[in-house]
Order: sequence, then structure tokens, then C-alpha cells
Amino acid sequence: MIKRPIFLAVLLVLAVLFSTASVNAQTVGVKKYVIFRDDDVAPWWFHGDTLQAVNQVHIDENVPVTLAIVPDPHAIGPDSQVFPYGQLTSNVTATRGTSPDNELLQDPAFLAYMRSISSDPLFEFAQHGYSHKDDQLSLLSEPSEFAGASATVQHEAIQKGRDDITEAFGITPTTFVPPFDHGDANTLEAVQALGFTDYCSGRGDPATLQGQADGIRVEPATVNIVGANYTALNTSFQLAKNTTDQFFSDPSNDTLIVAYHWWTFSGPGGSVDAREVQLLRDYIDYIKANEGVQFTRLDRQVTTSTGAAAGTALSLPQITISTAAIYGAVSSLMNVSGALTPYRLWLTRGVGITYLLGFAWFVVRGRDRRK
Ligand SMILES: [Zn+2]
Repeated sequence: MIKRPIFLAVLLVLAVLFSTASVNAQTVGVKKYVIFRDDDVAPWWFHGDTLQAVNQVHIDENVPVTLAIVPDPHAIGPDSQVFPYGQLTSNVTATRGTSPDNELLQDPAFLAYMRSISSDPLFEFAQHGYSHKDDQLSLLSEPSEFAGASATVQHEAIQKGRDDITEAFGITPTTFVPPFDHGDANTLEAVQALGFTDYCSGRGDPATLQGQADGIRVEPATVNIVGANYTALNTSFQLAKNTTDQFFSDPSNDTLIVAYHWWTFSGPGGSVDAREVQLLRDYIDYIKANEGVQFTRLDRQVTTSTGAAAGTALSLPQITISTAAIYGAVSSLMNVSGALTPYRLWLTRGVGITYLLGFAWFVVRGRDRRK
């Protein structure tokens, strides 16, 4: 007679495990997308060792990154030629600029390196303005290459830059990142007309504030990694981790966009600062510690998930809905310190306590009957 309660107890423990397994499978299935955006990839500005070291982190970690390329940083037109600095006059006729050259072809080290990674699916080639000059046309307090310029001028500048990227790398960009994170309605209209499908800038961009436009995804960066030295950069990454924690605990938000500039990881003289690069690697590992992370590019064409890479520095188990549900349940029960799953723990405990109370009631009632 004593064996029957033990048998029932085992059954009950299994029942608890399976009942939480179904709950857990649903929550694990929620996908959280993380996107990295690296601005100011440009000829002449290029310090090969720093850009390569930063990109190597993405290769080692199997995490994609959208490279925002400035096509012609030395260009004197069409936009800045039509409207020279501070000399905005009304009734100026927009004319095509006098920069037929493609600067992407003129910096041999830059060209060779960019071509060497152009077929790697981890790297999206996006367009970051045309000359990246502040034309100072905008009424905004923030600088902008495009805001305030006519629709025709903006269209021509963006088209010239896009064609230069296509000529140099054989890739036609579909993501546009306005320099200084600022454009206007004409910028949005121009990139739409030119076939771009994603416009990514900052939260204060008037174009972004207009919300989703037809046929183009308009989205601001969530996090900006900045820092003139190691201490400042470290602080910036700490703030980014706080934002990341909020993102993973917010079920209404499914995409985190992290923007940085590759040159932020340079030391004096422009050479790579390995300690600063390590901060980026640590941050990516920090993100990977969360369940259900999907790393993708702004164009969403390539997605990798935690643990999916061969030879990654991190060897976290890949927990997806395809993993056996019972494994998910066990890991969630063991993950008692997991700050992101408190409601799941409450549910697990609630179900367990209910079963135990039911079991106690069953045993007591059984004994009463036998008396
Ligand atoms: Zn920039």
C-alpha cells in the first residue's frame, strides 16, 4: 500500500513538468530581432585595421551587420554644389552636380577590402547619404546632408551614390541611412522612388516621425554606441545593456537596432584599439545570453540565431520551439535566477502547488476512507 503514493507522486512530478513544457514552448517561440548598423564606412576615411577588427567580431560571433557606406565623401555636388554652405537662396534651379567620378573606386585599400567581404552574407551594403556633408539648409538644430534641400537635388544625390555603390561592388543597396540621422519628407520620397525598402535613422528625424510610408520600412536606431575614449565607450555599452534588458522584457517590442561607427573603436592615430573592440564582443555575448535572439540585417535578408554558428566563441545551447519541449521545461525550471522569466516561474510554481495540494487532499481523503 505504501508504494501507491510514491507512484502517484512520480506521476504528479511528470505531470507538472509536461504542463509547464507547453507553456514554455510558447514563450521560447517569441522571436527578438537584434540588428547592428555600422555608419561611416567610406573611402579615404578608411583605417583598414579598425574596420576589419570590428567586422571580425561579427564574423567570429556569426552576427550580421549593416554597413552604411558613404559613396563620395569628397564630392562637391550635386547637393552641396547647388546649395553651397550657408548660401541658400530662393529660386535656385537644381542641376546635376559635377562629380562624375566614383570615389569608391579611387581608394585602392578600401576597394579591395570591401570587395573581399561583399559576398559574405553577414555584411549588408547600405547607403549612408552621398557626400555626408552638412549642407546647413535645415531649420533643425541638428546637422543634415539632405533636410531642407529640394526634392530634385536630393533625388539626384542619392541616385548618384546608389549607382556608385552598384558600380563598385555589384550590389544595389536597398537600405538608406541619412547622415547625422536626419532627413526630411523629400529624402523619404527620393529613397522610395529609387527603390529602397528600408530607411533607418534616429528618433529625432522628422522623416522617421512621419511613421511608416508605403513600400518602405521607416525605423530609428534604438541604441547609439558612442565614446571618445575607453571609459566613455564602456559607459555607453553599459547603458546599451540596460536598454537591451528592457527590450528583452518588453513583449510588445520585437526589434532592437544598435548603431555605432567603426571609427569609435580607433585609438590615437586611427589604429585599432583592441580593448575597445573587446567591449563590442562582450556586448554581443551579453545579448546572446537571452533566449530566442535572432540577429539580422536592416534588409532582413539574412538571419542567424544564438548557438547556430560553427566555431563561435560562445557555446550557448540553441533553445528554439523545435527543441524538445521537455528540454525547455527543464531548463526553465533550472533557470531560477533568470530575471526575464518571472511570470513563467510563477506559473510553474502555481501549477506545482496546485498539484501538491490536490495530492495531499487525495491522500488524506484516501486514508479517511480506509479508516
Ligand atoms: Zn555618418
